Amino acid sequence: MVLNTLRNLRAGRQARTSLAHLPADRPRPADGELLLETVGLTKSYAGADGELPVLSGIDLRVRAGEVVALLGKSGSGKSTLLRCLAGLLPVSSGTVAYRGTPLTGANPGTAMVFQTFALLPWLTVQQNVELGLEAKGVPAAERADAAVQAIDLIGLDGFESAYPKELSGGMRQRVGFARALVVEPDVLMMDEPFSALDVLTAENLRGELMELWESGRFPTRAIVLVTHNIEEAVLMADRIVVLGARPYGTIREVFEVGLDRPRDRDSAAFDELIDRVYRTMTGRQKEGRVPGRHEPVELEKRTPGNTPLPSASVDGLSGLAEMVLHRGGRCDLADLADDLGLAVDDLLPQVDALDLLGFTSLSGDDLLLTPVGTEFASADVQGSKKIFAAAVRRAPLVGLITNSLRSNAEGTLRAGFFRDLLAHHFTAEQVTRQLDTATDWGRYAELYSYDAEPEEYHLDENGDIGEPDDPDDPDEIRPPTAASAPR
Ligand code: ADP
Ligand code: MG
Repeated sequence: MVLNTLRNLRAGRQARTSLAHLPADRPRPADGELLLETVGLTKSYAGADGELPVLSGIDLRVRAGEVVALLGKSGSGKSTLLRCLAGLLPVSSGTVAYRGTPLTGANPGTAMVFQTFALLPWLTVQQNVELGLEAKGVPAAERADAAVQAIDLIGLDGFESAYPKELSGGMRQRVGFARALVVEPDVLMMDEPFSALDVLTAENLRGELMELWESGRFPTRAIVLVTHNIEEAVLMADRIVVLGARPYGTIREVFEVGLDRPRDRDSAAFDELIDRVYRTMTGRQKEGRVPGRHEPVELEKRTPGNTPLPSASVDGLSGLAEMVLHRGGRCDLADLADDLGLAVDDLLPQVDALDLLGFTSLSGDDLLLTPVGTEFASADVQGSKKIFAAAVRRAPLVGLITNSLRSNAEGTLRAGFFRDLLAHHFTAEQVTRQLDTATDWGRYAELYSYDAEPEEYHLDENGDIGEPDDPDDPDEIRPPTAASAPR
C-alpha cells in the first residue's frame, strides 16, 4: 500500500496541487519566501518563584522549500518554541510572524503532528483526518474528498473506517500525518513524531516522509521538526538549530546541512556533521557559537542553579565508564552507540554525568577516561564507592545537600527544603528528576540516606568527614545560612 503510494508518485500520477477548500486569494509561497520569523522571542512559564524563563532571544527564520530541525536535549524548550511558532502559546516578548504578519492567535499557516499522535479514539481514521478541515468550516463533501486524498498519500488507504485502537503505532502516526497534511499547511510542524515508535517503524516512516518531500508532491512548503535525535536531524533537515538549555533555551548554533538527498548515512560527511553537532550539543566546544548572545557557560562557577544534574543513575554511568575502559580507556562515542544499537544522544546523560564527576574528558570525537575515571572503572565495588564519594562533591546539588545536612544540628532535612531552593531555577519536573539523581548518587557515596516516607535526607558516615570548606574554592557550595533552614 505504501509502496503503491510511492509507485504512483514515481509514475507521476496526477496529484492535485491544491484542494478546492483552500482560499485561492494567495498563491502558494515560492521557494525562499519567508514563512515564519521570530525576532527576540522570549518565553517564560509561571513557576513557584515567579516567571521561569525557558526561551530567550530566539531569532529564527523558516523559508519555503526547507526542512528546519530544532534540536536540543530534553527540557531545552523545543516544544515550547514550536508551540509559539504555531501560535498555540503566546510569547512573553518579541514577535512571531507568518508571511510578514505578526501572529495574534493560532498560526493559519501551520499544522502539527504530535509525538503521542493525539487521535480521538471514538472517531474513525477518516473522521480523525477530517477534523482539521471541519475546524476550518469546509463543507462535508469536500472534507471527505480531501481526507481520502491525504489518507492515500500517506499510505493509509484501506484503513478509512478503522478506529485508532485497531492500528499499530506506526499506522496511528500516519493518521497524525494525514490529519496535518489534509489542511495543506504552508509549514508542517512535527514534535518528535517518531520517538514513540519502535526503531524500524520510525525508520520506515522517516524514509517515506522524506521521499514524499523530495518528490515535490508534498502538500506543504516547509517542515519544522523538533527532535532530540542528532542523527534524525542530520538525516532530514536542511538546517539544524541547536537549542542549549543552560541557563535557559537560546540558540547555541545553527548548522547548514548541505548534504545531497537522499542522505547517505555511511558517508564521511554525514559522520563528520554528526560529530560536530554532537560537540555543540554537549557544549564542549567554545568556538563556533552564534556571535553575540552566547556566553561560555563552562567558565562560570558551578552552582546548583546553573548546573542541573543529568538524569543518569550510578549504574548507568558506571556501565558506560566500564565500556570505555574495556575499549582501552578511549572510544568514539558514535561507534559505541552504534555497537549498542543506541542513538548517540541516548548516551548523553551518562556522558554528562561522567564529565561532571571528572571521570572523562572529550578529545576530538573520543570519550577519554581520566586517570581517576580509570581507577573508578577498574576498582571493585568498595573501591569505586570511595572514588565516587570523593568525586560526587563536584556535583553542585549533591554538595548542597551534604553541606546543608552537615550544618544542621540533627543532620536531617526535608526534601521540600531543596525542592524550594531549586524551584527558583527549574520547573517542578526538572526538580524532581534532579533530586532523584542526587538521591541515587549521594546514597551510593554514603554521603546521606533518604527516607521516602517522611521525604527526609539524613547525613551518612561519609558525609560527615568531608574536608572543611575552603572559602577560596570557587567550586565550593555554601550551605544555606541557619536562618534560611526550615524548622
Ligand atoms: P523540550 O521540548 O525541549 O523537552 P519543553 O519546551 O517541553 O522542552 O520545556 C522546556 C522547559 O519548560 C522545561 O523545563 C519544562 O519543564 C518547562 N515547561 C514546559 N511546559 C510548561 C508549562 N506549561 N508550565 C511550566 N513549565 C513548563
Ligand atoms: Mg518536547
